[in-house]
Amino acid sequence: MPTKRKGANLSRDTNKSRSIRNRRAQRTEEQVQEENTGARERMAQLRQEQLDDTRAECNEVMRLEQRQSHRFTVNRRRVNDQQRQQAHRAFVATSFLRLAFQYEPDIEYYAHSKVVIGAMDKECPYCHALKFKNEPAGMCCESGKVQLPEIETPPEPLNGLLIGTNPDSNVFLKSIRTFNSCSQMTSFGATEIVQNTNANG
Ligand SMILES: [Zn+2]
Repeated sequence: MPTKRKGANLSRDTNKSRSIRNRRAQRTEEQVQEENTGARERMAQLRQEQLDDTRAECNEVMRLEQRQSHRFTVNRRRVNDQQRQQAHRAFVATSFLRLAFQYEPDIEYYAHSKVVIGAMDKECPYCHALKFKNEPAGMCCESGKVQLPEIETPPEPLNGLLIGTNPDSNVFLKSIRTFNSCSQMTSFGATEIVQNTNANG
């Protein structure tokens, strides 16, 4: 025989429920209002407590996430710093061999003493060539030993084409790279210089 389930007969008329019903029936309007207000307040308080709990839970989750994210960022930054320091040590070292393969955008390569070459403002006292400060004195004219003849004015119509007095000068100067390319494999060795003096130039 099955045991009787606890609480199965919900509508049974116990002394307790009877007294509650009687009390409710005898309430004045004022008491009803008061009890309703009390119930509303208790409900509101309960809701507020639930809301506070949910909010606290959310805050905790957020705090944990932030801490994880912060830890991840710190670790990543630490790894980056280590890599940068390695690259910096390599950079400061004497060898520049394959340094480009460890390029780090944060390193000020241009400030390294081996990279700074200064301005091209050192003038040779003999030939007046402009050089960088570490370039040797003799690299331009062997300190005055090499003296090149003055560059002669080119013959016409070349000179006119170059200096802009020839009407075809514009076209010539625009196409000078093409002209140069056309004759780049040509040997200019000659034993006799012949000036072309016919009417067409
Ligand atoms: Zn010189």
